[in-house]
Amino acid sequence: MKLRKVTAASAAVLALTVGATACGGGNSDSGSSGGKKIKIGIKFDQPGLGLKQPDGSYAGFDVDVATYVAKQLGYTPDQIQFVETQSADRENALQRGDVKFIAATYSITPERQQKVDFAGPYLLAHQDLLVKKDSKISKGTDLNGKNLCSVTGSTSAQNVQKTIAPKANLKQNSTYSECIASLQSGAVDAVTTDDSILAGYASQAKYKGQFKLAGLKLSNENYGIGVKKGDKALVDKINKALEKMVSDGSWQKAVDKNFGPADYKNEKAPQIGNIVK
Ligand code: GLU
Repeated sequence: MKLRKVTAASAAVLALTVGATACGGGNSDSGSSGGKKIKIGIKFDQPGLGLKQPDGSYAGFDVDVATYVAKQLGYTPDQIQFVETQSADRENALQRGDVKFIAATYSITPERQQKVDFAGPYLLAHQDLLVKKDSKISKGTDLNGKNLCSVTGSTSAQNVQKTIAPKANLKQNSTYSECIASLQSGAVDAVTTDDSILAGYASQAKYKGQFKLAGLKLSNENYGIGVKKGDKALVDKINKALEKMVSDGSWQKAVDKNFGPADYKNEKAPQIGNIVK
């Protein structure tokens, strides 16, 4: 009897170990527990792009792009495990191998290309400002001396400090939803990031009618899919998947579904490898 108990306990430990191994890498094969899995990095708090919903499911353009790409790589939706990758942690997450790839409003930049590789681009967005409906802020330089919020590790925060408004009082959070809460409370005068992201927040029921986008196109943000540096085979496969997503109409469908409700007027589908400076 005693022996059987010990055996059961070891079996449980063994099962746990196997389970942990199966979930450990960016992707892996886990024999009996339902086939291979793929881990994909997205944002969890950006409506229209990458959003974890109250029921635990995920929605947004990045989610649809990631799901399409995963399918072309041989993974069904239930084999995908979405992982939150915040702006400042994306290069690290890829370098550590936490995720196989990242689709998280992730702009291709020369600095990031030193650390990771990118497939794409699959969307061209532009940095913009979100302000209260009655705000007088209407151009980048109006931000000097004002309280502004953006996210650590984002191109938007960098651009503000370098060129757009170096004298703005820039507060940096880890997520844009924290910035939006500060804008609503009046703690900051503006939030800056990509127009695609800001439009999603502005159209949410709880904020409807409170905010406006300045419509400034302060930068070109070429969204790429980040992969571990050196994985050229994966970049090629993802590029093929992205091309197919555009040519079979799935890209436009995902645009209409995710940006339609926010009334976001996106740019046409980029050509693979064509990064707009
Ligand atoms: N696309 C910009 C970036 O990659 C801003 C949005 C974000 O922080 O994800 O930095």
